[in-house]
Parts: sequence; structure tokens; C-alpha cells
Amino acid sequence: MTIIDVPEDLRAPVTLAQKMLIGGEWVDAVSGETLDVFNPSTGQVLSTQSAGGPAEVDRAVAAARAALTGPWSQVTPMQRGRMLTKLAELVEQNSEQLAQLESLDVGMPMMEARYIDLPFSIDILHYYAGWPTKITGDTIPVSFPHNFGGPYHAYTRREPVGVVAAIIPWNLPVMMAVKKLAPALATGNTMVIKPAEQTPLAIARLAELVLEAGIPEGVVNYVTGLGETAGVALVEHPDVNKVTFTGSVDTGKAIARAATGNLKRVSLELGGKSPHIIFDDADLESAVFAAGMAIFGGAGESCIAGSRLYVQRGAYETVLEGIAARANSIKVGPGLDDSSEMGPLISAEHREKVLSYMDLGRQDGRVVAGGGTAGEGGYFVEPTVLTDLDPTSRVLREEIFGPVLSVVPFDTEEEVTALANDTDFGLGAGVWTKDVGRVHRMAAAIESGQVWVNCYQPVDAALPFGGYKQSGWGRETCKENLDEYLELKTVVVQL
Ligand code: NAP
Ligand code: MG
Repeated sequence: MTIIDVPEDLRAPVTLAQKMLIGGEWVDAVSGETLDVFNPSTGQVLSTQSAGGPAEVDRAVAAARAALTGPWSQVTPMQRGRMLTKLAELVEQNSEQLAQLESLDVGMPMMEARYIDLPFSIDILHYYAGWPTKITGDTIPVSFPHNFGGPYHAYTRREPVGVVAAIIPWNLPVMMAVKKLAPALATGNTMVIKPAEQTPLAIARLAELVLEAGIPEGVVNYVTGLGETAGVALVEHPDVNKVTFTGSVDTGKAIARAATGNLKRVSLELGGKSPHIIFDDADLESAVFAAGMAIFGGAGESCIAGSRLYVQRGAYETVLEGIAARANSIKVGPGLDDSSEMGPLISAEHREKVLSYMDLGRQDGRVVAGGGTAGEGGYFVEPTVLTDLDPTSRVLREEIFGPVLSVVPFDTEEEVTALANDTDFGLGAGVWTKDVGRVHRMAAAIESGQVWVNCYQPVDAALPFGGYKQSGWGRETCKENLDEYLELKTVVVQL
């Protein structure tokens, strides 16, 4: 199987990603079938991956089950923590190569891969590496009547939920995989990871590093393939105990439905239509800069993209002008080109979708910047700013997942609170104001998993991340996340 137009030092990991890792062995699909891997910066095929399906999922789940009850059950909490620390160190040692693979596969600019995707992944591994030795149960005094016998000694145990299926999107593959792998392993589970069909490259290398870290074979399995084949097989599998998913709302709902067969545990990190609110009294220069990052960072292919910008009337013209100037100044280009500030979108199909929202914005409002395709070859679009939108426009309601910002003026705090909450989603929100009372009123009033004040989107391995409403179920990157990977068992002993 050939690989095309791939830098020399990435050829080995790109070749590796043509196979799947099952029970410690790198294998092809039984059918021998493959799927193309595209370079979004050129629109050309760069390699292939194995088209895994139910047969490979069966084998991977069996390998995960065997590791769970076998070698992995013999590993002490301290050793588990050390293995995660070792993996963090290996990811760090290989971070430039992993960043290049991400950039090649996703099209993300190198600076995003280098300064966001990889460093955050390393932090998450270190954060969870500290947990295995601190997962404890309780002893609980009980009050059974004396004529029930006794005395009693009651306690709880927190046990791994079992075999975890992790289904990963394409926007930040390594980070999204690590957000699931680190807590799953810290709590003693085993897993099968399925990357998005668009972006297998860096996760294959991550799976190789898992073995190098001394994590036993079969603890982490890596199966490529389409959502409708490999993904569905995992979600429906009777021997999978939990699914953890990041991606679209529709797929999240399909997964929740499909998981009812054996009532697997489900956690979902889905989309957003996050409001970003600037009051008149804010530091407008910082707010405009952050508003640009919030929507144009990652080409808007981010679940927390600040896609609805609400600006108080007195600052509206200044902010609109500032954000349009920012949009016009962004250098759009290939991910691996160090000077690119915004890369291409993930696929031709996704670009069509984003362009259709730009057209809708033109129809329902006014285009202030961008509004079309950019560059040549790859799936590039222009950073786009829309305003004067019909309040009922789908542009204001649906997740576009591209660099398309809608700017809307408002007058009062009450009005903007209602506008911000008038959405099916509740993932991120930003508020810019110097009024401390308003800061806390807004933080309480916004229905959203994250509220950032006088900043936008700082995330941390120790901070809960997740959504209200249709933005999902559960929280990642935090101590509460551990419970989603654990069963709680009550033991009562008559003494
Ligand atoms: P998607 O369908 O949600 O895909 C995410 C993952 O789920 C992929 O690994 C996909 O596999 C898999 N999958 C798809 N259907 C499945 C099923 N029925 N059962 C099990 N797994 C399944 O997302 P997409 O089609 O790539 O992108 C569509 C939209 O999703 C975007 O425009 C954006 O709005 C949203 N999105 C959100 C996030 C986020 O971070 N929350 C990330 C990416 C996309 P395949 O890729 O192999 O089909
Ligand atoms: Mg898909």
C-alpha cells in the first residue's frame, strides 16, 4: 500500500496507521479492505487505513476482556499510575512528530498542534496518572435495627466498569483520544479506540506508545473503520460495558439509542453554539482578539467555538470592525506550513456544508468579511463574519463547525441572557465586562457547562469539561469524570 507526498520522517508512522492494533498485534482487516486517508491541505489521498468492521471489533473486544481479567487485573494502582506517567513522557518525547501527524491529517496549523493539542494531551496523562492510588471506597456506619442481627461492617468498593469503547472525532484526534484513554486506564478499565475515518494517523502512533510505556497488550486496542460499520459494532457489542463518545449530536443520539441493548454506560461530549458576550465596559481590544481566536482557532472546527457574538450596542460598531479586520488578516494555508494561522476544513463534504451556511448568512443577513472558499487544492475557506441576521436564521441556531461568526447587537443584560440561552446547546460561553456583580449574575444565569469571564476557552486537565442540554452527558478532565468509569459496589458483612 503506497503512501503519497508524506514527509520522509513521517513515513514510518503513516505506514503503521495502515494497520490496527488488536491484542498487541498490528493486523489488517480480515476482508483486506481499506479506506483512503486524505490530506485536507491538498485534497489528495495520502495513505490508506484498514476498513475494520464487526469481525475486528469482536476480536478487539475479546482482547480487551482478556486483558481486563488477566494481566491488567494484576497491575497495582501505583504501577498503573507509573505507566500513565511513562506514556505522558513518551508523548512528550515524540510530541513534534505527533504534532506533525496531526497537522498532516487534520490540516491544523502546526502552532495549534504544538501549543494546544499535544501539551494539553500530556497534561491530561499526568493529571490522571496521579489518580489510581487515590480511588477509594468508604466505610459506612449502618443503622440496621439490632434484631436484624449484626453487628455489621459495611463498605464500598469502586471497580472498573469493564471494557470501554472510545469513539473519537477528527478535530483534535490525540487530545480527544487521551481525554478518554487516561481516565479509562487510571480506573483500571481496558478499551477499544476507534478514530474518525478522516484522522487515524496520530492515534495509531499513540497506540504504539501505549505498548512502549509497558501497558500490557490488549489493554488498549485500536480499530479503524467507518462509524456505520466499526462504530456501530462497538456500540451494539454485548461485551462492551461503556461507550465514551465525542462528536455530533445526531451520532450521539444514535449511540445512546444503540447502547440500550445491554444498557451500557454512555458519556457524550457533543456540539455547541456557544454565545460570546461583550458588554460596553469591557476591554474591547482583548475581547475582540479573544472573539477571533474563539471562532477562527481550529478553523472553527471546535465544539466550544464562540460562534454567536453578542455585543452591547455602544461597542457594536467597534467590535464588528475589529473582528472583520481580524478575519481579513488571518493567513489561511496548509497545516504543515509554519506561517499558516488557519488550516483547511477536514473534508470536501464538510467544506460544502460550511459554504452552504455562508450562503444562508448572505440570504438571511449581511456578510462583513469572507464568505467563500480560499487558497487552492485543499479544503480552504475564508474566515467569515456575518451580521444583521434574521433572528430566526438557522445560521444562529445550528452548529456550523467552521470559521463562521454571527455578530448580534443587544441592549440589556436580561435581553442578552435570554438570547444566550435560546439554544439547544450548552457547552461554552464567554462574558466580557468589568462589572463584578454582572460577572457573577451572568455566570449563574447562563445555561452552559463552561463560562469564561474576560477570557475565552482556557481548558485545564483538572477542570470539568462538558455540556448542558444537548451538548452531552457527563464531564471530562476532572475528578468527577472518574465516576463515569467506575462501578460502585456496596459490601455488607455480618460480623
Ligand atoms: P460524527 O458522525 O459524530 O463522527 C464522530 C465519530 O463517530 C467518528 O469516529 C465516526 O466515525 C463515529 N460514528 C459515526 N456514526 C456512528 C454510529 N452510528 N455509531 C458509532 N459511531 C459512529 O461526526 P462527523 O460526521 O465526522 O462530523 C459531523 C459534525 O459533527 C460536524 O460538522 C460537527 O458539527 C460535529 N462534530 C463535533 C465534534 C466535537 O468535538 N463535539 C467533533 C467532530 C464533529 P466515522 O468518522 O468513521 O464515520
Ligand atoms: Mg462520519
